[in-house]
Amino acid sequence: MARPVSYNLIKKPLEADISMAEMPEGVMGEGFHLTFLDKAIGLARRNSIWPLPFATSCCGIEFMATMGSHYDLARFGSERVGFSPRQCDLLMVMGTIAKKMGPVVKQVYLQMAEPRWVIAVGACASSGGIFDTYSVLQGIDQVIPVDVYVPGCPPRPEAIIDGVMRIQDLVGKESLRRRNGEKYKALLEGYGIQ
Ligand code: SF4
Repeated sequence: MARPVSYNLIKKPLEADISMAEMPEGVMGEGFHLTFLDKAIGLARRNSIWPLPFATSCCGIEFMATMGSHYDLARFGSERVGFSPRQCDLLMVMGTIAKKMGPVVKQVYLQMAEPRWVIAVGACASSGGIFDTYSVLQGIDQVIPVDVYVPGCPPRPEAIIDGVMRIQDLVGKESLRRRNGEKYKALLEGYGIQ
């Protein structure tokens, strides 16, 4: 018996649905592509970022919109939002962080395995925003290192997506030796992290 409704009557060419990741530079021949190990790892990492949303207020609502079908963060392979720090590699801090909450943000950061990256989403996470008061942390970079700051109060989902793309650029280009370097160790020591 025929189904009452038919879907997808107009076939789209397959290429219209698929976007290919940019291939790292290297030497290519029939059936092979030769490149540097850190470029291949960077390619894999940048297209499989697992975010950990640490949302405390209104900016978190913008993140919800960013995850929805219209803005669709999944387009970057970032749909696997995790709530266990041990499985995630991108900490997204969204919202006002009270000074009491600072040690909690730091603990979550410490529980994440290297390599890990951090985005401060919105004015509050970046600088305390409008809350220039005794109780609010004036930016999460007072307790943990931040890789990308997303401006706005709140930032629109497009701005959050832009922040994730900036992180992708960093992740894709990061040297595999960076985390073992003196500069990186000094950065962590500046935050009292061994
Ligand atoms: S930056 Fe603005 S929208 Fe975001 S948490 Fe602060 S007050 Fe709310």
